Amino acid sequence: MANTSQLSSEDQQQLETLKQDLTTARDTFLGYPVSKDFDYSELNTFFQFPINNLGDPFEHGTYRVQTHEMEREVIAFFAKIFRANPKDFWGYVTNGGSESNLYGLYLARELYPKAMVYYSESTHYSVRKNIHLLNIPSIVIKSQPNGEMDYEDFENTVRMNRHKPVIVLTTFGTTMKEAKDDVSKVKDILKNLAIQDHYIHCDAALAGSFGPFMQPRLPFDFMDGADSISISGHKFIGSPIPTGVLIAKRSNRDRIAKGISYIGSFDTTITGSRNGHSPLFLWYALKRLGIEGLKQRYQQSLEVAEYCEAQLKSIGIDAWRNPNAITVVLPKTPKRIKDKWQLATEGNISHVICMPNVSKTQIDEFVNDLKNTTDAFSEDEFSYDFSLS
Ligand SMILES: *Cc1c(COP(=O)(O)O)cnc(C)c1O
Repeated sequence: MANTSQLSSEDQQQLETLKQDLTTARDTFLGYPVSKDFDYSELNTFFQFPINNLGDPFEHGTYRVQTHEMEREVIAFFAKIFRANPKDFWGYVTNGGSESNLYGLYLARELYPKAMVYYSESTHYSVRKNIHLLNIPSIVIKSQPNGEMDYEDFENTVRMNRHKPVIVLTTFGTTMKEAKDDVSKVKDILKNLAIQDHYIHCDAALAGSFGPFMQPRLPFDFMDGADSISISGHKFIGSPIPTGVLIAKRSNRDRIAKGISYIGSFDTTITGSRNGHSPLFLWYALKRLGIEGLKQRYQQSLEVAEYCEAQLKSIGIDAWRNPNAITVVLPKTPKRIKDKWQLATEGNISHVICMPNVSKTQIDEFVNDLKNTTDAFSEDEFSYDFSLS
């Protein structure tokens, strides 16, 4: 850097300590859906550019230090695996699943300003804030014990409000139990109730990246009835910077686009300046993995999840998984184990998320810790309650 002095040895020491702390924290990590097995070093050289993806990735803007071409390829990749109409898709790379959800809801609200939003009590905590920001009336729908939306409650609630357009936020892979709301069931209910003005946004933050490879398939994508889908890029795929993807229908975004002469583009995105490095990371990861690589990544995670569930059961722990899930749900663990493995807790449950980098050896170590613990499982301690109810 020009005109700046070197870091003091104290500051350098602080960096060194940070690096060691991050390394330790990264290597004992089972509770959050973040992949850590990435290597983007080939892209290091791009940190010398002030990349900014300002504006709509599908429009030509004035600012050219950008990665819009790669961003469009990332969007096209997900549009394809989410079975969007090849002639009617649009999207952009966001700062994460939360922004992608905000965008889906924004689009829905612009199309149906008088609508009511419905989402289940297992929905991610950020959604309630998004709905508040957009000032849309909303109703929380009950969840079934496995975390999936209670369709009967949904149907009854919509019936009582059937004079209003309906926005449904479905979740494909809930935060705690990785439950998947069935988009085609939601769509059928709306059809039965003859609700014509409706919009379905599917929050697929974690499971969207492997949803297309599930056997048997579970309905969540455009062909199943979604109008927009969001994912987090730093979860299943992995990225050093939080990132996300939003895929919507081009025809819907066209209805809200407004041209801005200052940037020579459309102001179709939530933020103005946009991270241009994260589309590059996603592009690089997708190019290296391809469909086959993603599929294999999922298979590997699924196998570790099956193993984890079986091992926990073998020591008498009441563990279970939703269909096709890489998340193993178990009773809340003692605090020392929760802290060591960074396990998220909600109410009485905890979970292990078998992301692609989680190995059977780590599972063995975790199970061993549980087997040997003398701490009580029901130990009372403060924990954040993430539930919405
Ligand atoms: C993680 C997650 C989000 C939020 O995504 P960020 O990328 O962290 O902003 C939203 N919904 C679900 C279901 C999630 O798991």
